[in-house]
Amino acid sequence: MSRLRVPVGKNTYDAYAGVDADAAMVAAESAGVCIRPRVRTVTDRETGESMSVPIPCGSTRETVCTPCAVKARRLRIHQCREGWHRTDADLLPTEALVDDDDDQDHEDDRADDVLDEQPEDQDLTDAVACAAGLGRRVRSTRRLSGFPDLPTLPMQNRTVGREFVDERTGKAYRPSLFLTLTLPSYGKVIEGVGVPVRPDRYDYRRAALDALLWPRLLDRFWQNLRRCAGYKVQYFSAIEAQRRLAPHLHAAVRGAIPRQTIKAVVAATYHAAWWPALDEPTYVDRWPVYDRDTGRYVDPVTGVALPTWQEATSDLEEPAHVVSFGKQVDVKGLLGGTPDSDRTVRYLCKYLTKNVADTYTEQHPTTHAAAAYQRHADRLHAEVLILPCSSSCANWLRYGVQPNGARPGLVPGRCSSPAHDRENLGLGGRRVLVSRQWSGKTLTEHRADRREVVAEVLAAAGITAPEADRLGADRTLPDGSPRFVWADTNPDETTYVAVIAASLRQAQTWRTQYEHAKVLAAQRSSPPVDTNSATYAAPAA
Ligand SMILES: [Zn+2]
Ligand SMILES: [Zn+2]
Repeated sequence: MSRLRVPVGKNTYDAYAGVDADAAMVAAESAGVCIRPRVRTVTDRETGESMSVPIPCGSTRETVCTPCAVKARRLRIHQCREGWHRTDADLLPTEALVDDDDDQDHEDDRADDVLDEQPEDQDLTDAVACAAGLGRRVRSTRRLSGFPDLPTLPMQNRTVGREFVDERTGKAYRPSLFLTLTLPSYGKVIEGVGVPVRPDRYDYRRAALDALLWPRLLDRFWQNLRRCAGYKVQYFSAIEAQRRLAPHLHAAVRGAIPRQTIKAVVAATYHAAWWPALDEPTYVDRWPVYDRDTGRYVDPVTGVALPTWQEATSDLEEPAHVVSFGKQVDVKGLLGGTPDSDRTVRYLCKYLTKNVADTYTEQHPTTHAAAAYQRHADRLHAEVLILPCSSSCANWLRYGVQPNGARPGLVPGRCSSPAHDRENLGLGGRRVLVSRQWSGKTLTEHRADRREVVAEVLAAAGITAPEADRLGADRTLPDGSPRFVWADTNPDETTYVAVIAASLRQAQTWRTQYEHAKVLAAQRSSPPVDTNSATYAAPAA
């Protein structure tokens, strides 16, 4: 929570009188203060006073709020750096180590990337059962032909890499890896531009399906890599767009794994989507309608019920789509604490604040190239829009199948998943995927760490850091009832400008204090402190 308050109904910042919201946003942006704070009202029941309190929007996208996105990126850099080269074997209790494949830090701002269809994953060990109308039918667990087998090693209960000893110096070291994974070619593209040489021959459909299924392929990759490397491999990874707008993955991996092992795992990994066939749409302009009597979607003309998801998938002979990696795999060995390692962390997080579709748009200087690039994105988006993102996607109606868990009101092309949006081009979920035992901390804990660093510097200089949670819900009146009552508001423009103006002033004050404290600390030749301080702004919620 931000500790900044503006009395309701009073514009106490005369300097901003007459300034409109747009101008205030420009000023906030250049000062690194959230430009789209949610404004809430807090009432102090002891004094009867009400205040407007801005809550930073916390967006991770520059297109929404640059200051918040930059702050979020900085936190990810910090998180990446902290976990990469760790050597403490006992990062987490042993129970956590048993839980192999549930990896993500469950606190990202998006909940839309749940891999809701694990049973569709064909795997070496999982017997896949489908609850069909006629009873349970177990699918073959054979690997698909065309993919090599995976060599596996006995799993050791460790998350850190092997230690090597330099024979000359006797010094021990634990190298780590930087890994880049890509998708296959969909057609030749103009180098450095990313636009297909022959757009009519570029396989946009395949590109779109692969992008939609990319997170599942990655999931499978990490599972396989662990089996083949023989330890609980930990990673911090970022999903970004290549210039051709296909997703690729950069990952910091803890520990050194032989290059041949990684190449073998990449070649053997695939994700098979056991979906109904989607080669040809059944409906193109009139969509199936929901029949309230039967609770099913029916043909708009004949009234015949569409097969349910279970019916449509009970007898599949082959997967509707198989996604696997491209040939281009990059593996680079690194040592912790080197400039190379630090540079790589920044590279890894470079595009995190960009939308997938906008990653390279500023790099097309001429109008002609820019237009061609936009058309490329448009064509990819046209496919992403009509293909299904998951078993419950409304787009299944287009293919004559009732989506899994169908409810009334589904319309093809209007699935709520952001994967279908033009800015995301198939990647609607998390852009940062971090394994559970990376740093042993949640993102919230990393955030608190960073705030703590600032508070310590200020305290050492005799400045009291802004009091945390002063308006917290746990503060009570003598009768035990909460002292502060929070409510959402829809502020008018004057209040909004006043709130942003106050944010600016506060941020400037804190920054000045912090810089001053750092100078004092340096004069006392204390150990070095937070290196990102120059951009420190008002602490976020
Ligand atoms: Zn913001
Ligand atoms: Zn969808």
